[in-house]
Amino acid sequence: MSVHTITLSTTKIMALKKKLSTASVCKTPPYAVFQVKTSDCTITAYESGKVVFQGEGADFYVQGVSSSESKANIQQPKMPLTYPQHGSDEVGTGDYFGPIVVCACRVEEKDIPLLQSLKIQDSKQTTDDTIVAIAPILMDHLTHSFLLLDNAKYNEVHQVDNMNAIKAKLHNQAFIHLKEKVNNDMDTIIIDQFTPEKSYYQYLQKEKEVIKGIHFETKAENKYLSVACASIIARYAFIKAIEQMSKAYSFPFPKGAGAHVDEAAVRFVSVHSEQELWKVCKYHFKNTEKMKALML
Ligand code: MG
Repeated sequence: MSVHTITLSTTKIMALKKKLSTASVCKTPPYAVFQVKTSDCTITAYESGKVVFQGEGADFYVQGVSSSESKANIQQPKMPLTYPQHGSDEVGTGDYFGPIVVCACRVEEKDIPLLQSLKIQDSKQTTDDTIVAIAPILMDHLTHSFLLLDNAKYNEVHQVDNMNAIKAKLHNQAFIHLKEKVNNDMDTIIIDQFTPEKSYYQYLQKEKEVIKGIHFETKAENKYLSVACASIIARYAFIKAIEQMSKAYSFPFPKGAGAHVDEAAVRFVSVHSEQELWKVCKYHFKNTEKMKALML
């Protein structure tokens, strides 16, 4: 188990708290601002500005904070850019409404000019309109595999697996499918890291087939074309799924997990029912409790 202590400004502590909003909140110890627990790390922020990271995942979480501190590090890939390159990313894990989508995608050297003309590198800043315009072109040209876990299935699985375990299984499965499509020619593999490497493989212990030899890196969608393209295709599938849900329920589902989402959940349950809510949201998110409090 490792322990790291860093010092942050109040603003940065509040930003960190927001970033960790899906982690479970613990009882706040004396002199602490907050304490949260992820599957492999306990993070405590103190009034003094000290933030302590404890557990298997401490290295990963502290790295996340330091890399967002220094912008210069962000665009620098840690691995040489070789092709064919295979990358994966997921979408929907921070959204109360809608599925989780994971995509794994292959980029070959011959694809680079097209991807440059589509300005793929800027995936994070890309608007939904641009995603809808670009993604079908990528899906036409690039070998890819995506998996969509709908809300009913997600809520069922979440009773036994935590979010990171679910993500790990989906990424693994997406790479298994991609490997078949590319006739096993899959040497360079990159995951936009969401959990430490060791935990990732622990989550997959009981899986029949596990894809190994993966390079794990945070912010990989800004550094590797294959991850950037995977991210765009996953976002496209997510947008389309939300569109379908909105049509089926004649209800505009908002993105994210903020207060506007609590209010939307209230409206949804008033028109439909809580049983229906189970089919369109990630039920364990705090929004469900907040919705219930608002309904009282
Ligand atoms: Mg990601």
